[in-house]
Amino acid sequence: MAVLDILTYPDERLRQASDRVQRFDVALQARIDDLEETRKAGPGAVGIAAPQVGWFERVIIVDVSGRKKTRSHGHLILVNPEITEWDGFAMGREGCLSVPDYTGNVIRATRIRLTASDPDGAPLELDMEGYEARAAQHEIDHLDGKLFVDYLSSLKRQRIRKKLEKDQRRRA
Ligand code: ZN
Repeated sequence: MAVLDILTYPDERLRQASDRVQRFDVALQARIDDLEETRKAGPGAVGIAAPQVGWFERVIIVDVSGRKKTRSHGHLILVNPEITEWDGFAMGREGCLSVPDYTGNVIRATRIRLTASDPDGAPLELDMEGYEARAAQHEIDHLDGKLFVDYLSSLKRQRIRKKLEKDQRRRA
């Protein structure tokens, strides 16, 4: 298992839409293990999506079970997730491993139903609410090349972009 490098905003690769997983094999499991290792290495990340490590297939991991008073399904590996129902909306604060040191308020559905496969290809159907539903929506956005900063004002987005570009130049 390996901790992989995370692509950070404004890296254009984060804008790429990911392909559906076709094969449920040991290679998929190995990539999922690396993705999980990378999530756990991050600062309190409740989720990660494959494209954040340059893997452009539709795989996300969500685990909000570490948050107090949060209803959840525990640790979830979701392959080819699709939201089939949305209900309600609420504003909430989000952060992202690909946008280090920043958070922003984003409106999301408060309840969703989603379908997916587990890593062995077995079908799943889940009803999620609250913070877990928010985390799943955030991660699924990554699969379509969307980031939470897209929901912020362009002024705030520009400010984050400039700061992160400066940090990246300093590290280069
Ligand atoms: Zn993210």
